[in-house]
Amino acid sequence: MKSVAERVAEFTEARRVMAMGLYPYFREIEGEQGTIVTMNGKSVLMMGSNNYLGLTDHPEVKAAAQKAIDQYGTGCAGSRFLNGTLSIHTECEEVLADFMGTEASLVYSTGFMANQGVISALVGRDSYIIIDKADHASIIDAARLAYGKTIKYAHNDMEDLEKKLSALSGKLCIIVIDGVFSMEGDIAKLPEICDIAEKYNAEVIVDDAHAIGVIGENGTGTASHFGIGDKILGTIGTFSKALASIGGFIASSENIIHFLRHHSRALIFSASPPPAGVAAVIKAVEIIKREPERIERLMELTAYLRNALKQANFNIGQSETPIIPIYVGEEMNAFKACMMLQAEGVFVNPVISPAVPPDKSLLRLSLMSTLTEENLDFAMEKLIKVGKTLGFI
Ligand code: PMP
Repeated sequence: MKSVAERVAEFTEARRVMAMGLYPYFREIEGEQGTIVTMNGKSVLMMGSNNYLGLTDHPEVKAAAQKAIDQYGTGCAGSRFLNGTLSIHTECEEVLADFMGTEASLVYSTGFMANQGVISALVGRDSYIIIDKADHASIIDAARLAYGKTIKYAHNDMEDLEKKLSALSGKLCIIVIDGVFSMEGDIAKLPEICDIAEKYNAEVIVDDAHAIGVIGENGTGTASHFGIGDKILGTIGTFSKALASIGGFIASSENIIHFLRHHSRALIFSASPPPAGVAAVIKAVEIIKREPERIERLMELTAYLRNALKQANFNIGQSETPIIPIYVGEEMNAFKACMMLQAEGVFVNPVISPAVPPDKSLLRLSLMSTLTEENLDFAMEKLIKVGKTLGFI
């Protein structure tokens, strides 16, 4: 049997990429997280942030966070269940339930923990959890943790979903899907999923990490986008994207929230999110409601970039949202492209296996409403240069 030291020493891939000067991870941003960031002392156009509405450096959001520190202190020395519930947590849950149009909501310390805590609590021993193959890692890990059995269906493939569900007829099945898929940027076929679920008596939970603040009425997510909010059991969200903070939540019925408050281990056995982060969310929701033009602008910029990329013959898959993938083939292409783009002043993220199939490596572009058409023209010029050099256009 190998020792831990031997096992970790066998992991050489990252060191090999580092030695080639192509390592694209843990890149440091020095200072503000706006549309132009500083990296290694150089200005770089940020085309890879999930700060969709540009609120992480909004003066009102920052002021709300600072005020909460003055009022409550910096951290929470306990979980929501015991000594870690501050009045600002309760206020945030009321704001989120009102925003999402649900009876109640429950705040977790990250979106990852929300998925873990909700899914593992709701999926009992005799239940099945049905997930899309492209679901986020936190859903996959939550399914591993849950007592029920996990069944995967092919990405957004309704025939496969129905095949899997029909084989489980009579069992309790809970379908958990990304509303907007985090790597590919396509939207789940939620109306069809809900129809199939109804036919087989299954329940549906949507992880709207990339949909909140982006699609649906006022940015309330995928179910709202399709006008079928009443057909799902609940929506899970994160604070780490459009909501400009750190944390996660579920919006659902009062009964589900009541159950989770007493059964969800990620909630009960982990400290609650710090007051500054929660205050930022409350302010971010207020701004999203007050300034719907931010979402309109995000969509305008998305359409602008998508058209430009298509015209330049990039393969951008089925994306319908501000997450736009550029398929580049093998993983070395993704690493090389990222580092070449950074040298040219553009930040994008590489996505390789296992997040996507091995031959489907991609550059993941994600947009902020605070970018401009000039920014996107600049990015396009650099993308075309790199795409031609590496041969993916
Ligand atoms: N779900 C999805 C679809 C995500 O993309 C992410 C974050 N990348 C999460 C959940 C986890 O959210 P958080 O960053 O708040 O842990």
